[in-house]
Amino acid sequence: MDSVDLHVHSTASDGSLTPRQVVAEAKAQGLRALALTDHDTIDGLAEALTAGCALGVEVIPGIEISAHHEPGSMHILGYFLDHGSPQLEAQLRILKQARADRNPQIVAKLQKMGLAITLAEVQQASGGGQVGRPHIAQVLVRKGYVATFQEAFERYIGNHGPAYVSKFRFPPQEAIAMIRAAGGVAGLAHPFTLEYSSSGHLRQILTQLVSWGLAALEVYYPEHTPENQELYRHLAQEFGLLMTGGSDYHGAIKPEIRLGQVGPGQTVGYEIVEKLKALAGRGEGRGEEGR
Ligand code: AMP
Ligand code: ZN
Ligand code: FE
Ligand code: FE
Repeated sequence: MDSVDLHVHSTASDGSLTPRQVVAEAKAQGLRALALTDHDTIDGLAEALTAGCALGVEVIPGIEISAHHEPGSMHILGYFLDHGSPQLEAQLRILKQARADRNPQIVAKLQKMGLAITLAEVQQASGGGQVGRPHIAQVLVRKGYVATFQEAFERYIGNHGPAYVSKFRFPPQEAIAMIRAAGGVAGLAHPFTLEYSSSGHLRQILTQLVSWGLAALEVYYPEHTPENQELYRHLAQEFGLLMTGGSDYHGAIKPEIRLGQVGPGQTVGYEIVEKLKALAGRGEGRGEEGR
C-alpha cells in the first residue's frame, strides 16, 4: 500500500528525531510520502528534502502554523511550500522572536513557584531547534517535578495553567495568506482542538476559513473519534475541501504515536498527495479536485 503521513514533526520544532531520522523512519515504515510540518518553522525542510532524495521517500515541504483563536487552538497546515520564499522567512522570524521572548517568561514563572529549572536546560532538551512547551514539560519530568508529560501541562504550563504565558499568533486569515503566498495549500489541522460548541459553530468557522482560502481539512488523525471523522468528512464534502490525514508524529515525546498511523489500523493513501500537488502553486487555494 502506498501510504503517506501528512503531519509530522522533527527536532526543528518539538519532535525528537532530526529531519533526516524522520525520513529514515518513514522509509522503515514503508511510507511513500511524508509532509514535514514543524510548528511555525521551515528550518527542517532542506535536510528532510535531501534525505528524501537519498532514501527514495517523497518529502512534501510543509508547516503547521499556530493561528489566533479562542478558546481552543487553531493550527493551520501548509503543504508544498516554496521554502526559499524570503517573505515567508520574514513572517516566520516574527514567530521565532515571539517564542524567544516567551520561553524565559514561562521559566521565570516556574522558578517563582519554586521549581529549579533553567532556560539552558530547556534549550538543551530542544536539541537546537525551535523551543516550545513540550521541551519545558520534558525537563519537568526529568527533574521529577511531575510524573508525566501530561501532568506538566495540567499542573503548570497548559493553556489554563499558572505558568502559562501566551505568545503572538497571526490571525487565521494571515496564516492562510502566508502559506498561499508561498505557493502552498492551506489546511485546518485536528479541528476538534478549536473547542467549537456545536457542528454549526464549526461550520461557521470553516465558512470564514474557506473564504480566506482554506483548501483542506485534516479528517484522519489519531485522536479523532469515529464521530469526529464522520462530521469532518461531511463538512469537507460540503465545503469542497481535500481530506488530509496525518499522525502528528513527535517521536519519543508522544511514544504511542506511530508514523503513518492516523487511527486504529487506519492509513492515508497517496492519492491525496496528487490532489494537493494539483492545487499547489496556484495561490488561489482551491481547484478541480476540491470542488
Ligand atoms: P507551544 O508551541 O510552545 O505553545 O507548545 C504547544 C505544543 O504543546 C502543542 O503542539 C502540543 O504538542 C503541546 N501541548 C499543548 N497543550 C498540551 C496539553 N494540554 N497536553 C499535552 N500537550 C500539550
Ligand atoms: Zn508539536
Ligand atoms: Fe497541532
Ligand atoms: Fe502537529
